Amino acid sequence: ASTWAEVPMGPADPILGLTEMYNKDTDPRKVSLGVGAYRGEDGKPWVLPSVRAAEKKILEDGVNKEYLGISGLPSFVDLSLRFGYGDNSAPLKEGRIAGVQTLSGTGACRLVGEFFNRFGISAQNAIYMPNPTWGNHIPIFRDAGMEVKQYTYFDRDIVGVNVEGMIKDMKDAPDGSAFLLHACAHNPTGSDPTMDQWREISDVMKTKKHVPFFDCAYQGFASGDAEKDAGAIRLFVDEGHQVLLGQSFAKNFGLYGERVGALSVVCADKDEAARVESQLKLLIRPMYSNPPANGARIVQTILSDPALEKQWREECKSMADRIIRMRDLLKSNLEKEGSSRDWSHVTDQIGMFCYSGITEDQVLEMREKHHVYMTKDGRISMAGVTKENVSYLAAALHEVTK
Ligand code: PLP
Repeated sequence: ASTWAEVPMGPADPILGLTEMYNKDTDPRKVSLGVGAYRGEDGKPWVLPSVRAAEKKILEDGVNKEYLGISGLPSFVDLSLRFGYGDNSAPLKEGRIAGVQTLSGTGACRLVGEFFNRFGISAQNAIYMPNPTWGNHIPIFRDAGMEVKQYTYFDRDIVGVNVEGMIKDMKDAPDGSAFLLHACAHNPTGSDPTMDQWREISDVMKTKKHVPFFDCAYQGFASGDAEKDAGAIRLFVDEGHQVLLGQSFAKNFGLYGERVGALSVVCADKDEAARVESQLKLLIRPMYSNPPANGARIVQTILSDPALEKQWREECKSMADRIIRMRDLLKSNLEKEGSSRDWSHVTDQIGMFCYSGITEDQVLEMREKHHVYMTKDGRISMAGVTKENVSYLAAALHEVTK
């Protein structure tokens, strides 16, 4: 018998499997609303001109292909921290943030899991994540050896965040538990707490000595303003929390396949930051040795050049703005179709996704009858919506929900 005869077939990834299905569909009207990757008005992937300019500069500079260090490109990490925490951040100025480059946001999450697990940081070695959350969060932390628990987050009736439920679950968790928080543009619901609600959440977490891990995959992409999107993180830091921050540059810089991200940990002092960083490096070295260089160089080139950075901010805003326009168009088209449902959440939600509120049966009907592909929870990637397909999409949505 073959050595691998006992290896069973695994299930297809719920999101990437959807793309495979879409690719096989031969209907010309088909619409892909699965994967969270930006598309331009023409429905095609878009490489930001600021990214192209940075690539050109890197090529002209004739950089070599040597390995980066275990913790990545130091100038990239410094700029990434400034981007996340802001120019005026006290712990940043005091040099007490440990930071390393990671394999995008996924790699940052996994490293947090490994770090928590190795040092028993969280009560009962459990991490609490919102219900629902990005599908990959659960296996990431489980594979890192942690117990995954959920806290109340979304309320389907109010189609928004159930902050009271969230706070109750935080109070009920053992003191010193780790909580995963989406920094902005919660995936999949597109619903975030308000700044006042974040303040309440911060107070409870402080009383309970909980450990906040901010997963930040959409800074700048959510509202179009990177400073505004970092509001919750900066509030927590100002309130004295020793946060961990995972940053992804996949969506906001359109660098998906370059795998560029960072993980940082706010520490009490410089000495503690050095110790934490040394341990992050010990976790990285046996996993993948050191991160890829190209994407980090691109971000570093943009964020260290005021003109390029300004250009990038405008381009990032143009992506956010297009998505906001598509939300308006989708809602008005649904109204035009005569839908009597309340679709105000389509425009209330922010970021890449619209949590449409349709049932799994309706999702399957959208797929089979209308060739529109979205995840089973009814999540629509707004990036896949264009002026060309929005009326077809609205008609199909109305058809399955009437
Ligand atoms: N975290 C959240 C909440 C996400 O939505 C995503 C991507 O969809 C990621 C992390 C990780 O993305 P990447 O590993 O491509 O940076």
